[in-house]
Amino acid sequence: MFIYSFSFKVGVRGMKYILKRPKKIFIHIKDNVAIEVSDAFIDFIGYSRDELIGRSINQISNLLKMDFTIDIKSNKSESDFYIFTKMHQCRNVFVSCEILNDGTEKIYYFREKSNSRIEEKIPFVKKLCLDNEIGVAVWSFPKLIMLECSEKFSCFLNKLHNENKSYIGLKKQELLSKFENSSIKDIWLKTIMTGKACSYKKYKYLKNHNRYWDFSLTPIFFNGKIKYIIQTVLDVTDSVINEKIFEDQKNTIIKGQNEQLEIIIDNMSYLLFIFDKDGNFIKINKAASDFFDDLSKMEDVTKGFQYFNMDANLIVTEYLPGFRVLRGEKISEYRVMVKKNNIVKYFEVNGTPIYDKEGNFVVGIVYCYDITKKVNDERTLLKKTQYDFFNKIIESLDLPFVRLSYPDLNFIDINQKGYYYLRKLRPEIKCLDDVKKTKFSTIFSQQDKLCVLRSIKEMEHKKEKSYSRYKKVIISGEEMFVHMLYQPMIGVNGEILEIIGIAIDVTEEIKANKNMEKSLKWQEEIFSNLSHELKTPLNVIFSAAQLFELYLKNNLLNENKAKISNSIYSIKQNCYRLSRLLSNIVDMSKIESGYFKLDLYNENIIEVIEDIVQSSSKYVEGKGLSITFDTNVEEKIIAFDYQKIKRAILNLISNAIKFSRPGGEIYVDVIDKGHTVEIYISDNGIGIEKNNQNHIFSIFNKVDKSFTRNAEGSGMGLCIVKSIVELHGGRITVESEIEKGSKFKIELPVSTVKNKNDINKNKVLHSNDEMISMEFSDIYS
Ligand code: ADP
Repeated sequence: MFIYSFSFKVGVRGMKYILKRPKKIFIHIKDNVAIEVSDAFIDFIGYSRDELIGRSINQISNLLKMDFTIDIKSNKSESDFYIFTKMHQCRNVFVSCEILNDGTEKIYYFREKSNSRIEEKIPFVKKLCLDNEIGVAVWSFPKLIMLECSEKFSCFLNKLHNENKSYIGLKKQELLSKFENSSIKDIWLKTIMTGKACSYKKYKYLKNHNRYWDFSLTPIFFNGKIKYIIQTVLDVTDSVINEKIFEDQKNTIIKGQNEQLEIIIDNMSYLLFIFDKDGNFIKINKAASDFFDDLSKMEDVTKGFQYFNMDANLIVTEYLPGFRVLRGEKISEYRVMVKKNNIVKYFEVNGTPIYDKEGNFVVGIVYCYDITKKVNDERTLLKKTQYDFFNKIIESLDLPFVRLSYPDLNFIDINQKGYYYLRKLRPEIKCLDDVKKTKFSTIFSQQDKLCVLRSIKEMEHKKEKSYSRYKKVIISGEEMFVHMLYQPMIGVNGEILEIIGIAIDVTEEIKANKNMEKSLKWQEEIFSNLSHELKTPLNVIFSAAQLFELYLKNNLLNENKAKISNSIYSIKQNCYRLSRLLSNIVDMSKIESGYFKLDLYNENIIEVIEDIVQSSSKYVEGKGLSITFDTNVEEKIIAFDYQKIKRAILNLISNAIKFSRPGGEIYVDVIDKGHTVEIYISDNGIGIEKNNQNHIFSIFNKVDKSFTRNAEGSGMGLCIVKSIVELHGGRITVESEIEKGSKFKIELPVSTVKNKNDINKNKVLHSNDEMISMEFSDIYS
């Protein structure tokens, strides 16, 4: 075998190679001891002749870090080996053996393979090996013999073996005895299988070596096959340890912070709920678990609790905040009223779902803040504002209004009007403080009290307003009718908080009803009392008509002229009588219903009365009576209703005529008394019994008829006269003695009305004669 050495010259025209005779590299072994080495061998491996001659074949193998004797089967065969020079440089050689003298002597020939030198094949390796940080080793493939090893790498191996020696030429298994069972083997296999560079971070080779390494394996290919594997190692122990320390510190800090956070969460006044996507609670803070006894799932929040919105409408389960957050909704400042037995609390609820990067629901967070006090304060303020406003209205109400406590029924409040009536009912109450000490029921009589309590009971039962109708109370001696209304004020739990009482004055209504009743009664009376009065003149008229018919039929009209004339007079009289009766009925109705009104004008009352007397004198004299007028003044201007006063005077004269005997005397006197004018109508007729004198001014109170055979009457005359006089602000009285006569006295106040001096219009309504005929119709019918 030869080792060729090349030298070359570069000429202008190109390269020119000169082949020199190769020098043989061999070692001669006899009886397993080196007896001769060639100079080329010494040049090739760097050991001196003295270091080699006389050494056993094993010692030589150790020097070359390769047992080159193995695998050489015959003279001709060549085997491929890596041997190492004295300078630990790797050489890839073919080795062959020449056997001499029956095998006692052997000559081993070495032939270096072309491109055998790593520094030439992978030039950057040398540079890598100089690196102070990264350890580099080059391994052969497939035998995994270490061909190159940087100082840093040997540090790595040192740390594994704890010894200092050159590792070059050793096989992987020799260097890393636990290689077969280590996880690093997988990386080797992966590199070999894939042919791609692989790396491993923070590798800890053995547990007892507390070192961490980053390492990489890079396969180097020649002719499409892996020839070498470059391994790099980097001691990252310090950074790993630092990292670990940092991690530990971080964990400790986080743990501490978590603990602090837990404490904060547990001590905060918010109720905090954290739950997973299925509504299972992951975290509930103390405030929340104090309020809700036993929560594990979202549904549990409904156990024993009811939820309402701020309009007091029930919130159904699926619309509770937690369920809404589960559906992905965000909730902000949502106010909820929570009821647990009789406890009512208000919460402001915020909530949000939390998603991961992929948009999956991770947790839901709901936190609630107890705003019970705030809400109550707000409501109190609102109530106060409303209450002030309400109070102002109540105070200015013209209705008695009270607030009563429940169930004690003590006065809480009362308005002005209520206080006014209350003091009238209970004069011993001197101030508002007294009212507050008073029980509502005690202001009523025993009987009324029962009625009040019955109404309140009814109200309690229905929880609605109740009435006690038309209660009669006497206020300052006056009869008053009130309609009491009791209105319960209902609380959130349906309980009665207090009672509002309002009294409605229905006195007018009751009086109107009474008047109506009276009016109906009066109408009934009219028709029962007056049927005779109506029938009599009608009968007279009817009889006269029959008589006329008879005369007409028998052709007797001429002979009976006088009788016919009398009948016509009688018809006329009875027509006046009917007319007067109807006029009296109409006036009485007006008087009863309050529609009887005066039409006042300023006029000389003396003149008017004198006129009336004068006009009626012929009628009086016609009855065989006399009438005399007298006065102390000629003129007295006062405001009066001409027609009505005339009727009144005529009525009194008519009565004087009716109840006088032939030859009787009638006097009409007018006396000016300064502030009053007195009008007297006196007769010396039959007189009126004492006990009847009070009744004659009432309607339908006629005195015994036995004395009045010739005089009819409706019994309304004096009643109307009295009303006329009283409407003028005056009064009428009577003095009478049986069989001696009667004296009626009218007193009219002296007063005038503005711009009403023309009574002509009034005067012409009825002529004097016609009016007298009508007023005297009773007498002459
Ligand atoms: P009448 O229309 O029936 O006269 P009045 O109201 O005018 O009704 O009178 C009521 C009653 O008073 C008479 O029925 C009569 O009994 C009595 N009376 C009125 N005036 C006199 C009088 N001057 N003398 C006696 N009795 C009188």
